[in-house]
Amino acid sequence: MNDNFGLEYHLVHSCNLKCAGCSHYSSLLDELTFISKEQIESEMNLLRVRTNNGDSLRWLRLLGGEPLLHPNLTDCLNIIRNIFPKTRITLITNGINLNKMSNTFYKVCKCNDIEISVTDYGLIDLNNIIHQIKSKGVKIDIYQTCRDWYFQNIRLTEEINDCFNQCYHRKMCINYKEEKIFLCPQMAYIDIFNHTFSTDIVVNENEYIDLNKVSTYNELMRILTSLHPDFCSIYCNCTSPNGNPEKNGKRYTTKKDIKEFCKL
Ligand code: SF4
Ligand code: SF4
Repeated sequence: MNDNFGLEYHLVHSCNLKCAGCSHYSSLLDELTFISKEQIESEMNLLRVRTNNGDSLRWLRLLGGEPLLHPNLTDCLNIIRNIFPKTRITLITNGINLNKMSNTFYKVCKCNDIEISVTDYGLIDLNNIIHQIKSKGVKIDIYQTCRDWYFQNIRLTEEINDCFNQCYHRKMCINYKEEKIFLCPQMAYIDIFNHTFSTDIVVNENEYIDLNKVSTYNELMRILTSLHPDFCSIYCNCTSPNGNPEKNGKRYTTKKDIKEFCKL
């Protein structure tokens, strides 16, 4: 039994920092694209039922895309905390909008014990901003430093190369989207990639878990630990022994060139 089960969940699919090679494909969306608070409430309620009334969901990372762009963010945070009173909830942001957020937003984070984790892309003076926000009593810290940048998370090549064994995403970055659980963002958001580049990469029903088709947390865990999607050997390009793609370099704004995201 996985006693540290947690999920990532997009509040907003799009992003204000449009990175080439984004593994969530958020940079490919031109319009602000977010999940309505009604849909969030419905999906979170289903998740609660499948996780022993929320007790077995140890952590939840709210992200995107850029979650701070959500027009009803404080309502969403109140709704999610109400549904999961014991889960560790973290808002993952690129930090660009932190100094524009309202006092109400910070009060809601504080009252709901929602932590803020900032990914450091080296673009803003985060230490100063973090210091100011900590002084409001909000838990905030740097989540990770992304100075090494990976491109081409997926591939459209002929070879079969199973990346599953060296994969850390399937434990650390499981994504919940539209009542389904995917082992990584590449699979969860492949529709955005397909739509942008007119490709037809398919994630089949046996490669994810539909929460409407499982009854209990035990069943969910049994299927989750036995999932081994074909996507991992056909499309995944995380071929390095450390579980990342081989192509890395400096982050830059996408030119919407398919080769930033996909090895051809
Ligand atoms: S900041 Fe993160 S979510 Fe936004 S485009 Fe860059 S990698 Fe993707
Ligand atoms: S597709 Fe790649 S990153 Fe996703 S679960 Fe499979 S091996 Fe891991």
